[in-house]
Amino acid sequence: MRSRPLGEGDRLLELFTREKGKLSAVAPGARKIKSRLAAGVDYFTCASLLLYKGKSLYTVTQLEIETTFQKISVNIEDYLYGMYFCELLGKLVQEGEPYPAIFNLLLDCWNFLDSGGIDREILARYYELRLLSLLGYHPHFKDCLHCGSSRGPFFWSDSSGGIFCKRCRPTNSAVFSISGGALAIANRLLNAPAALKLLNLRATAAQKKELLEFTHRFLLYWTDIGPLKGLSLLEKINTP
Ligand SMILES: [Zn+2]
Repeated sequence: MRSRPLGEGDRLLELFTREKGKLSAVAPGARKIKSRLAAGVDYFTCASLLLYKGKSLYTVTQLEIETTFQKISVNIEDYLYGMYFCELLGKLVQEGEPYPAIFNLLLDCWNFLDSGGIDREILARYYELRLLSLLGYHPHFKDCLHCGSSRGPFFWSDSSGGIFCKRCRPTNSAVFSISGGALAIANRLLNAPAALKLLNLRATAAQKKELLEFTHRFLLYWTDIGPLKGLSLLEKINTP
C-alpha cells in the first residue's frame, strides 16, 4: 500500500495481507537493479510472500507475483483512484489484524480499474461504502429508521447513521435531504451481491455529486481519519 526508500538499497513497505492484515516489512535490496524483489514490490501487485519476523519489522525473504494490475499505473486517473483506495484502507485498518473480506474487496476494485469500462466515481463510492460496512459502519438507507416507511422524501442524519422520513426527522440534530435516486444507488452499491452489477449502474452527474458528499460526510463523521490526500487530488481532477 505504501513504499519508501530505506538505507542504501532497501525499501520499507506497508503491505496489506490476506492472513495478517496490514503490516510493515523491509524488502532488502529492492532498489537495486538486479534485485529479484524489485518488480514484486511495485504498487498494484498481488504476490505470495515469505516473511521473516524480526523484533519490530518483517523482512521479505521470498516473493512470487500472483497478479499485477499494470494498466492502473498507466492512466493517471486510475492510478489516483487506486492509490486513494490504499490510503483510505491504511487509515482505517489496524496493524496485524486480518480482514480477508476487505482484502478481496480491494482486489476486486483494482481489478475493475485495471479492466476499464467502469465509472470510476461509482466504483469509489462502492469501495467506500463496502469498506465502511465491513468495518462495522453500516449506513441504513433502506427505509425510515423510526417508522420503517419507505416513502420519501428522506433526510439523512449523521449521528443516527441512517435516514428518516419527513414526519420522523429529528429536530434536535442536523439532517440533510437526500434524493430518492441517490439513495437507490447507494442501497444497490451497499447491498449488491456481486460487484459485477457495478458495470450496469448509471448515475447522473447530480446524483454522483450527492453520493460523494453523502459518503464523505458519513466517513468523516464516524471515523477519525483526518484529511485524505488522495481524495483532494481526485476532487481537483473531477471538477470541470
Ligand atoms: Zn418515519
